[in-house]
Amino acid sequence: MVETATAKTAQKAHYSFFQGVERNFDKAAKYTRFEKGILEQIKACNAIYQIKFPVRIGDKIEVIEAFRVQHSHHKLPCKGGIRYSMDVNQDEVMALAALMTYKCAIVNVPFGGAKGGITINPKNYTPFELEKITRRYASELVKKNFIGPGIDVPAPDYGTGAREMSWIADTYASLKPGEVDALGCVTGKPIAQGGVRGRTEATGLGVFYGVREMCNVAEDMQALGLTPGIKGKKVIVQGLGNVGYHAAKFFAQGGAVIVGLAEYEGGVYNANGLDLEAVVAHRKSTGSILGFPGATDFKNGFDVIEQECDILIPAALENVINADNAARIKAKIIGEGANGPLTPEADEILLAKGAIIIPDMYLNAGGVTVSYFEWLKNLSHVRFGRMDKRFSENQNSSIIATLEEMTGKKVSDIERRQLQHGPDEVDLVYSGLEDTMIGSFYEIRDAMKEHNLKDMRTAAFIVAINKVGVAYEELGIFP
Ligand code: GLU
Repeated sequence: MVETATAKTAQKAHYSFFQGVERNFDKAAKYTRFEKGILEQIKACNAIYQIKFPVRIGDKIEVIEAFRVQHSHHKLPCKGGIRYSMDVNQDEVMALAALMTYKCAIVNVPFGGAKGGITINPKNYTPFELEKITRRYASELVKKNFIGPGIDVPAPDYGTGAREMSWIADTYASLKPGEVDALGCVTGKPIAQGGVRGRTEATGLGVFYGVREMCNVAEDMQALGLTPGIKGKKVIVQGLGNVGYHAAKFFAQGGAVIVGLAEYEGGVYNANGLDLEAVVAHRKSTGSILGFPGATDFKNGFDVIEQECDILIPAALENVINADNAARIKAKIIGEGANGPLTPEADEILLAKGAIIIPDMYLNAGGVTVSYFEWLKNLSHVRFGRMDKRFSENQNSSIIATLEEMTGKKVSDIERRQLQHGPDEVDLVYSGLEDTMIGSFYEIRDAMKEHNLKDMRTAAFIVAINKVGVAYEELGIFP
């Protein structure tokens, strides 16, 4: 929910964001077998809806500009977040919608890509005004059939969260009385409104699972001059919003050392490690990340990302690493927590330096993966684990009892609790996410090996194009 200054650097790219995505697509398309027409169809944005609507703010009427782009209909519903930011424009929403298509394909989420945005700074409005804007936007989507559990399912993105999703679900449900699956029209909702446990932290957790898996491959770590395993790796995270904060938290829990944190007002660095929660508390009480005891201050947050570390996680907005600063980045592993944080030029500079870039459309796909689980929960109208948790616990108890009887030994109370535990919703969501991130990592790695590529983004695009291309081929052309 935190607005950062990073978007200002977006102009530094020589390509528009959408053109950058197309350029990366074209690089990968060469390695696929699809005819030109299919590739053109995969690349194109299928439907673009630009809206202007009036909202009464105080005693004035404001005309609000908003978008929803459905990039691909090869699988339905379409899926992708809604962002609130002054940087929202049609090109950005198109690029982000396209990335959603590839992202869903990579993590085997059976959806087409979409994205929405409203060109506002949410900080300029009261919650009441934001609710009015959000509900009006949702009703405009309903009017044009641009939202629905089988049509297009928004989710949170930059500047939005569970609160906005709840307003959208309620607006949709009141305009579609009796639609039994109405809650499946949007994901990222609060738990009490049909949300799923684990969705809030899902993107950050997915970032952690993806980077950890890469670090576990000894051969790849050796090529980078690093030791295998996540333990002790020095990490800098840029952006302490939902993605950055949770990624940093899981890295620290996994044994990595958070050495740098950057936000829009500046950043802090300590080679011996920073206590994430203490930094967050300091920022809350002083209003700034700067001045954290024991850390070096950087008035410009961008300077922090250039400091010594093994892993850099840009987790704010697009184009923050570009032709101007890429050469100064020291990290060997760059994990894209945000969507499009590297320009195509930055990509080339860093690859030439021998770094590995774990691309956004894989690494931050944890959010949409768990959104898929939430959608499944909404359609099945039952919490994950409700039917089998107790059954598993009873089974586990009898296995323990049998083993104790056979061996004549007793397990300790702690062991008993661990062995007996049947899955809660959050356990199942985490395990589904972990399995997805690990499985997709090796799909991309296999593509790298097959095509002898150093560039993981191109490999990820190859994986995505192959899946979407096959879907379009099999669907045929209508009529
Ligand atoms: N906004 C998130 C993304 O960019 C999540 C999208 C979703 O859950 O549909 O991946």
